[in-house]
Amino acid sequence: MRTPGGRECDYYYEDCYRGRDLRECRISRGAHVRRWHPHDCEACEVPEILAANSSEDLELVLTQRATWLGLGNRTVLEAWCARHMVPVDDPRRGCPECAKEMPLPDPEE
Ligand SMILES: [Zn+2]
Repeated sequence: MRTPGGRECDYYYEDCYRGRDLRECRISRGAHVRRWHPHDCEACEVPEILAANSSEDLELVLTQRATWLGLGNRTVLEAWCARHMVPVDDPRRGCPECAKEMPLPDPEE
């Protein structure tokens, strides 16, 4: 669906028919991650990641992580491969283990 930031995102959901006003981000959120606000979509990198990587095994999770000096927390986006259960350092490129399994694109597709 198209987000308030104007981009397509699989995690965004809205239902505004017949007086309903439901808008939400359905990405996984860790404990203590603050609630989603429509403004969050404007600077969010998730739509770009989904456009670059269409793997169904890619799992994106928002988590809180302590900052470098331990002064407070910041929200970071973590990517995991659901098939190999490994963190994905560069979600735009995807899981390195999956890449090893699929060296060539299928010409039939
Ligand atoms: Zn993988």
